[in-house]
Amino acid sequence: MKSYRKELWFDIPKRRMFINITPEVNDCLKESGIKEGLLLVNAMHITASVFINDDERGLHQDFDKWLEKLAPEKPYSQYAHNGYEDNADAHLKRTIMGREVVVAVTNGKLDFGPWEQIFYGEFDGMRRKRVLVKIIGE
Ligand code: ZN
Repeated sequence: MKSYRKELWFDIPKRRMFINITPEVNDCLKESGIKEGLLLVNAMHITASVFINDDERGLHQDFDKWLEKLAPEKPYSQYAHNGYEDNADAHLKRTIMGREVVVAVTNGKLDFGPWEQIFYGEFDGMRRKRVLVKIIGE
């Protein structure tokens, strides 16, 4: 069995942002040479997510609005976590959007359903963040 590991780094210029990382993940799969197996992608931060959904701008706005309703960023004082930090909302948003995705690798390709794309979801950005890609198989 082969095993591959890589960290992808992102410069996130905003507090909240969704980035389609499917091309970078595809590059990892090619580099790994693995044709059959499983691919894991996870955020390496507790205020960011990796999730699969549609690459449609309206939907991304809907996600942002929905998450702001569930866990509004402000006022910061509404959260017990925000004594020392101001990112309680980001921890909550990340929990809802998930930490990682697993995708089947078939014939050297990501075995997606229609319209599936992999996204990095940032909820406390304005600094460098990373994502782990791990692929196992043969
Ligand atoms: Zn925190």
